[in-house]
Amino acid sequence: MNQQLANFLLKGGRLIDPAASRDGLFDVCVRNGKIDAIGENLTSSGFTVIDVKDQIVTPGLIDVHLHLMKGLGAFGVDPDIFGVGSGVTTVVDAGSAGHTLLNVFRDYVTNNAKTRVLNYINLSTLGGVSGPGYSILADPRLIDEAKIEQAVEANRDIIVGIKIMATGGALGAQGLKPLERARKLGDELNIPLLVHIGESWTKDSAPVHVGDVLKYLRAGDIVTHMFTVHPGGLLDGNGKLWPQVRDAKESGVLMDVGHGLHNLNFDVARKVLDQGLHPDGVSTDGHRGNRAGPVYDLPTTMAKLMALGFTLKQVIEMATANAARLLGRSNELGTLRIGAAADISVLKLEDREWKAVDSQKGTIPAHRTITPVYAIRGETIYEPLPAERP
Ligand SMILES: [Zn+2]
Repeated sequence: MNQQLANFLLKGGRLIDPAASRDGLFDVCVRNGKIDAIGENLTSSGFTVIDVKDQIVTPGLIDVHLHLMKGLGAFGVDPDIFGVGSGVTTVVDAGSAGHTLLNVFRDYVTNNAKTRVLNYINLSTLGGVSGPGYSILADPRLIDEAKIEQAVEANRDIIVGIKIMATGGALGAQGLKPLERARKLGDELNIPLLVHIGESWTKDSAPVHVGDVLKYLRAGDIVTHMFTVHPGGLLDGNGKLWPQVRDAKESGVLMDVGHGLHNLNFDVARKVLDQGLHPDGVSTDGHRGNRAGPVYDLPTTMAKLMALGFTLKQVIEMATANAARLLGRSNELGTLRIGAAADISVLKLEDREWKAVDSQKGTIPAHRTITPVYAIRGETIYEPLPAERP
């Protein structure tokens, strides 16, 4: 049951807030839906005490890549399922809407959600209307710079970047021209590009080489599906990182997991990680088709990264401070701030043996699970929705 509470005290939890260099037993006091105090052994008479002993308290988790236009095609999912229903307070749609649908997205999705919903506008006017297997950038008329600029300027509060499908299937005969146009748009509007790599949907098309894609990216742009096993990924035929990938990372291009139905492969992940390339962001690429597995939710995806060798603190940093930076929202998201509206996740970390499953049904042994306990926004405390988590 969700609860409405103006004044409450989260008591006894382990607070991990990497942006504030905090990791320890700290209570969090919320007054009128705003963070009033963070400290050891806080007491507040008259405040409802929420016992979070043996639980993890973090700044509200951020899932930076999902498909949230509920009802759209096979994928669009209600944002509150992967959002507050999964212990996550901010979710970001990756390109469901092109410029023509942006107002619909805003009115129908963002304004109706209990979760904060941000948006990457699709470079293609078609966005996700046709599904991912179509050549949505192959006709040059499907990119309308003037209309995209208008849509971005009118919706800066929710738009965090431009989504581009950098696959042979999506680009078709246009080749890399859409990337060139996206680059110009990103520069003019001063927003990052979010680029999908990996030929997971259109296997009959010649894949685009990741080195060619990276030529168009700058510091702050994001590559999603970094652990994809499909053609067009970060590794060459010998399992080595393409040299352009290292160069891009060093120049400040960010890397996101984007688990999804197709794009988290543990063998690829091990090879990429062994060569020293780490993710900046962790995301589910959540949609209607992967909620019941292999993705489930962001906490489960974080637990899979722990099974790959990351610490709890590292995966929390990815889903809070790093995610906020990736979205260009470090000034408002990703850390607990006194005086700001409460935006908090509470998680349970348990020692339990389980098998983490990737997008190709590969498994690795995992020793810890992360499950959501609460997502808190202002005066509302949301309990997670049921899910068949592993
Ligand atoms: Zn996606």
